[in-house]
Amino acid sequence: MGVLEIFKSLDYGPAPESSLAANAWLDDHERKFGLFINNEWVRPKGVEYYPSFNPANGELLAETTQAGQPEVDLAVTAARRAFEIWSKTPGSVRARYLYAIARNIQKHHRLLAVLESMDNGKPIRESRDIDVPLLARHFYYHAGWSQLMETELHDYQPVGVVGQIIPWNFPLLMLAWKIAPAIAMGNTVLLKPASYTRLTALLFAEIVAEAGLPPGVINVITGSSKAGTMIVTHPDVDKIAFTGSTDVGRTLRRQTAGSGKKLSLELGGKSPFIVFDDADLDGAVEGVVDAIWFNQGQVCCAGSRLLVQENIAGRFLQKLERRMETMRVGDPLDKCIDMGAIVDRTQWETVDMWVKRGAEEGGEVFQPSIDLPDKGLFYPPTLIKNLDPAAETVQEEIFGPVLVSLNFRTPAEAIALANNTRYGLAASLWSENINLALDVASKLKAGSVWVNCTNLFDAASGFGGYRESGFGREGGREGLFEYLRPAWQPRPRPDYAPADAKADKDSWGAHIPARPTLPDANKANGRELPRVDRTPKMYIGGKQVRPDEQYTRPIFSVKGKLIGQVGDGNRKDIRNAVEAAHAAHTAKPGWAMRHGYNRSQILFFIAENLQARSDEFAERIRLSTGCSAALARSEVELAIERLFLYAAWADKYGGSVQETTLHGVTVGVNEPLGVVGIACPDEFPLLAFVSLMAPAIARGNTVVMIPSEKHPLSATDFYQVLDTSDVPPGVVNIVTGDRDYLTKTLIQHEDVDAVWYFGPARGSYYVEHESAANMKRTWVSYGIRRDWTSAEQGAGHEFLHEATQVKNIWVPTGE
Ligand code: NAP
Repeated sequence: MGVLEIFKSLDYGPAPESSLAANAWLDDHERKFGLFINNEWVRPKGVEYYPSFNPANGELLAETTQAGQPEVDLAVTAARRAFEIWSKTPGSVRARYLYAIARNIQKHHRLLAVLESMDNGKPIRESRDIDVPLLARHFYYHAGWSQLMETELHDYQPVGVVGQIIPWNFPLLMLAWKIAPAIAMGNTVLLKPASYTRLTALLFAEIVAEAGLPPGVINVITGSSKAGTMIVTHPDVDKIAFTGSTDVGRTLRRQTAGSGKKLSLELGGKSPFIVFDDADLDGAVEGVVDAIWFNQGQVCCAGSRLLVQENIAGRFLQKLERRMETMRVGDPLDKCIDMGAIVDRTQWETVDMWVKRGAEEGGEVFQPSIDLPDKGLFYPPTLIKNLDPAAETVQEEIFGPVLVSLNFRTPAEAIALANNTRYGLAASLWSENINLALDVASKLKAGSVWVNCTNLFDAASGFGGYRESGFGREGGREGLFEYLRPAWQPRPRPDYAPADAKADKDSWGAHIPARPTLPDANKANGRELPRVDRTPKMYIGGKQVRPDEQYTRPIFSVKGKLIGQVGDGNRKDIRNAVEAAHAAHTAKPGWAMRHGYNRSQILFFIAENLQARSDEFAERIRLSTGCSAALARSEVELAIERLFLYAAWADKYGGSVQETTLHGVTVGVNEPLGVVGIACPDEFPLLAFVSLMAPAIARGNTVVMIPSEKHPLSATDFYQVLDTSDVPPGVVNIVTGDRDYLTKTLIQHEDVDAVWYFGPARGSYYVEHESAANMKRTWVSYGIRRDWTSAEQGAGHEFLHEATQVKNIWVPTGE
C-alpha cells in the first residue's frame, strides 16, 4: 500500500476518556443530590427530585432537588450572614481564598471536565482544554482584583447578596464568569444552574468548600425557573446576574424594575462571521468550524450568520462543504470527535424545526453525509444557503449547529448586513487587509469583535452585549462594576409597586397639554405697549423650534410668581429630537467619530461661554429656585467646573489594552451608547443638567435632554450658550415639558439606546419596566436625591461608566 493509499484509508481509532472517577463521585452521593448551602448538603424533607440524563446515551446520571421558597430563603439567609463578614474581610485575604479555589479546580481538572461532558454532551476536547482551564483562569484573575480592590477601587463597595442564574451551554464557564468577580469584590452569592445541566455546579460547590471558603459565601441551589423567579423577586437579594435567553431576560428586567436591585443581563445573539475576498480562505473555513460547531453551536456568540463577499462565495462555500464532510460527530468522551450531543430532546427538536423552517423559507439545506451514532441526541453540522436577509432563520437565534449564509458586495454592505439584527453580542471578520479589518471592527455593533479569529475568551477581557444581547460585562476590569456600588450610595430600597398594574401604567406619563397663561405684564393697560413675547422654544437639531402643538407651560418662582413660559413638548417633539440626535451620528464626521480632542475643545468652549454669562445664569437660578445669590453663583461656578472636568475626560477614557492570554492585541474600547435620553431632576436645575449632559456628549453620545420640569429656564437659556460654542447640530437637543410624559415617549422609542431618569420612584419603576421592550440600558435615581454639588455624587467614574459600553477587539499576531 502506497503512502497516498494509507492517508486515504486512515481512520480514527476510538480514544475514550475514562468516566470512572466521575461515576465514582456520583456513586459516592448515591446519585441523589441535595442543595449546597453554608458549605453543607441540605436535604429538605418532602421536596421533589428531578432526573438528569446523559444526552449522548440517555442514561440516568443522578437526581437533584427542586428548590422551593423555604430553600431559597435558607440560601439567601446564609448568603446574607456570610456577607456581613466576607464584605469586611480584607481584599488580600479574600485573594488567598480565590487562589485556593483556583488551585483546587486545577487539582480536579479531569473530574470536572469529564462530568461536564457527561452532563452537557460537549466534547471532552472542549471541556478539558477550554471550559475547565478558563474556570481556573477566572479565579486566578479575580484573586488579583481582590488583592487590588482597596487601592484601585476605593470609591466602590460590594453590592451585597447576589442571585446568579445561568444557562446550560457552558455550566462551569458561566458559573466562573459570575461567581469569581462577585466574591472577589466582597459579595456573597446563591447560584442556580440550568435544569438541563446542574451536576458540575454541585461538584464545584464541594471543591470550593474543600478549598476552605467560609460557609455561605457561595451557595448552589438547583431547581426550575420557578426557583429562578423566587431568587429574582426575593427582597433580600441585592443584585441579579443572569445569562440566558433574551425573552427570559426581558421578564427579569420587568420583575426587578423599580426595586433598586442591580441587574446584568447576558443574553442571546445571532453573530455575523464576515469573510472578505482577501481573507486566508482555508483559515477562515477552520474559523467557521470553531464559530458555529464549537459546543454543537450552542454558543451565545456562535458565528451563526456567515457573510461572504460575492466574488469568492462559490469557492468558499465549496471549501466549507468539503470540510463539513470530514467532521466527526459522536461520543463526547471520545477525544477525537468534533461535535458531541445536543443537550436535550426539546432542544434537538427546536434545532430540527429551524432547519425545516429554513427550507420552507427557500433556503438550500446542506448536511454532510457523515455517520451519526444510532443512539443519543446527535445532529449533523448544517449549512443553509440562499436565504433572504429578512428570513426568520437568518434573524432568530437557533442555538444549534446550523449556519446560514448570505453574500455581500462591498464592506459597507457587509457592515449593514452584519448590524441588521436586534442582537449585538459578537462578530468575527476575516481579511488580510488590516485597514479594512479595523475599520469594519469599529463599525460593528457588538461587544466582542474577533479579527481573523473567533470565540476567544479570557478573564482579562469583558464579554457582553449591545442592544438586545443585554447589558453589563463579565470579565476584565469593566466586569467588576457589575458587582460594585459607589461607596457613598446605600442600596436603594424604593417603596413603589403599582397596585393595579394596567391602570397605573396607563396613567403614568399621561398628558394633558398645559394651558397657556398670559403674564400680567403682557396685557396692555391702556398706557403701556404690550411686552414683546419671549417664550423659549425647543432646541432641536441646532435650531430653536416651536413646540409641535404650539402650547406653552407657565413657569413660576418658588414664591408662586410667574417668571416665564416654556414650550410644552409632545411625542412629535421627542421624535424630531431623536431624529436629530441620530443624524448627528451619521453626519460626517459623526459626533462619535470626532476626535476626543475636538469634543474636549467644544466642551471647553461651552464652559467659556457659560462663564461669560454667569451673572445672568445665577440670577435666573436665584429667581427660579429662591436660593441665595451666593448659592446661585456657586451653582454656575460648579457647572463650569463640570464642563472642564468632562472636557478633560473627552480624550482620556477611550479604553485600554487588555492583558489577555492571546498572542496578539486585545483592545477594550469604551464606545458611546448612541442616542441617550436624559430626564433631569428639579434640584440644581443648571448644575444637574450640565452634570448629566457633559459626560454623555464627552464620550460621543448625542442627547435628548428633558430639563427640570419645575425650573427649566436655565436649560432654555443654555441654548444660546450651545449655539455660540460650535456644538454641531443635533448633538444636544432640549425638549421642555412634562417630565414623565416625555420620558415615556423616549423609553418607548426604538431608536433611543439608553435612558437616564432622575425623578420619582414611580417614574424610575416605569423607565426600567418599559425598557425591557428593546433592552435599553437605563440609569435611574429611584426617587433618591443626590447631592449634585459634591464631587463624589455629582461627577466621576460612575458617570463615565454609564455613558459608555465596552467593545473588545481581538487581533492575533504572529505566524
Ligand atoms: P433560558 O431558558 O433563558 O434559561 C437560563 C436560565 O434561566 C436557566 O437557569 C433557567 O432555568 C432560568 N430561567 C428560565 N426562566 C426563568 C424565569 N422566568 N425566572 C428566572 N429564571 C429563569 O436560557 P437557556 O436555554 O438555558 O440558554 C440559552 C440562552 O442563553 C441562549 O439564548 C444563549 O444565547 C444565552 N446565553 C448567553 C450568553 C451570554 O454571555 N450572553 C452565554 C450563554 C448563553 P431552567 O433551566 O430551570 O429553565
